[in-house]
Amino acid sequence: MIAGHTVLKYILSLSLFGASAVTSAQAASGDPIGVAMPTKSSQRWIDDGNNIVRLLKAKGYRPDLQYADDDIPTQLAQIENMLTTGVKILVIASIDGTTLSDVLSKARERGVRVIAYDRLIRGTPNVDYYATFDNYKVGVQQATSIVDALGLRDGKGPFNIELFGGSPDDNNAYFFYDGALSVLKPFIDAKKLVVRSGQFGMDKVSTLRWDPATAQARMDNLLSAYYGNAHLDAVLSPYDGISTAILSSVKSVGYGSGGVKLPVVSGQDAELQSVKSIIAGEQTATVFKDTRDLAKVTVAMIDAIEAGREPEVNDAKTYDNGRKVVPSYLLTPVIVTKANWKPALVDTGYYTLDQLK
Ligand code: BGC
Repeated sequence: MIAGHTVLKYILSLSLFGASAVTSAQAASGDPIGVAMPTKSSQRWIDDGNNIVRLLKAKGYRPDLQYADDDIPTQLAQIENMLTTGVKILVIASIDGTTLSDVLSKARERGVRVIAYDRLIRGTPNVDYYATFDNYKVGVQQATSIVDALGLRDGKGPFNIELFGGSPDDNNAYFFYDGALSVLKPFIDAKKLVVRSGQFGMDKVSTLRWDPATAQARMDNLLSAYYGNAHLDAVLSPYDGISTAILSSVKSVGYGSGGVKLPVVSGQDAELQSVKSIIAGEQTATVFKDTRDLAKVTVAMIDAIEAGREPEVNDAKTYDNGRKVVPSYLLTPVIVTKANWKPALVDTGYYTLDQLK
């Protein structure tokens, strides 16, 4: 009887003082938050994981950060395990955005909220929010860096270009490609850009798991099949790891020496080796996505969920995952070239000058 009375008083106090005071007290007491990242094979995901963990710990949460070696069953097992250990919120940068439906049904049954991190989770209603960059704009910027470097808007050309896409199981890859093609297509139609291989479309140009070795092998083949007697002037590359592989491939057949100019090559992520390559005049550009900001947006979403508030979003129409339009917060990417790497990357504290030597 006394116990029942106490419970009643607790419920009354909950409804009188609102749920938020109670839930933020829980956050301070250390709610566990699962953070599932795809791979350590690229620096950006290592930074993403570290940034989120640092911010979560500072706010008193208990993060559980796991990397899955780009292996889908490993990521599924990690998320299952997080559910078993009682996480309240899951932050997931998926490997294959279409494989999580079953595990996320289980999450929903347990009342666990889900934030898709950087990559959209597809084919399930059980994803609550999406924190990412404006992915279409990333593609626009990649192509713009090529158009500018070639001087196409000044009427130069025609030039030969080849196109590379990201992983076909990553929703972002289609946004990057479509954004890039929106800029390149008018020049292709006007025959100012020529794709000698004729390989267009994500079904022909994608790179499974963003794997540099896969991209390098494709570049080797394109060079030997289509560029025996022609110069390759530009390559649309969706990610710095692939840009590095493309540059190795072209160098191995003589580009960059003996007066043979390297092609213009785009990129993404401002990875250390690519920024060094930009400074050295090899890779043309990268797209900088400040992972510190993405971590901040994500942790702000977590705070809001914990406090019973709606997280702030700035896009409620773009990211339809096949089952729902996922409310999203899109950050703005920045083109980085030889002209602005210092203000963009050093003055902002992302890298030190020493790291770039
Ligand atoms: C990310 C890119 C990254 C790529 C490969 C994409 O989902 O948005 O920043 O370059 O994955 O890791």
